[in-house]
Amino acid sequence: MPSSLDEALDTLVRDIADWPDAGVVFRDVTPLLADAEGLRLTVEGLTALGRRIAGGDIDKVVGIEARGFIFGTPVAVALGAGFVPARKAGKLPALTHGVEYDLEYGSATVEIHQDALTPGDRVLVVDDVLATGGTMAAVDELIARTGAVPVANVVVLEISALGGRERLAHERLGALRTY
Ligand code: AMP
Repeated sequence: MPSSLDEALDTLVRDIADWPDAGVVFRDVTPLLADAEGLRLTVEGLTALGRRIAGGDIDKVVGIEARGFIFGTPVAVALGAGFVPARKAGKLPALTHGVEYDLEYGSATVEIHQDALTPGDRVLVVDDVLATGGTMAAVDELIARTGAVPVANVVVLEISALGGRERLAHERLGALRTY
């Protein structure tokens, strides 16, 4: 059983080489999720980091499909906030806002329900990994479209070489571990 968050992140995140594509090192958090104490420490860490960066009330947590749902929901419960999913195109049933963003090859779209956030809501965004930052930037834009305000963006792991932090160009990003 890990005795600290650092130990949990050291021992329970595994690297899978060349997945899903050649040259990609996939950071697999499923061992962290499967470990009761690792999961607890991670949720506690994300909650504390989000609270510190937000510096005030958090009304809603937006989790990014799919692993942002897993981490974001218990963080929302811990904060006494509601949970809102940001999903890939075509998955949400009611009226949505959508933002398209570039991938290495091609593009993708993320969506949010138009009525999921109220103008002025203070929002914490949660995901597992920040790579190029394209997904996180698109979700920030989605939140802004609803009139709500992203007040903190937190991830378990940040892959700094891919420049996500620079792309986001704001100071409210926090990571439990930066590679
Ligand atoms: P990006 O938009 O490039 O920052 O990619 C972030 C999204 O893709 C997150 O939702 C991650 O779950 C996933 N992702 C990207 N790269 C990796 C990686 N090397 N390992 C694990 N997940 C990744």
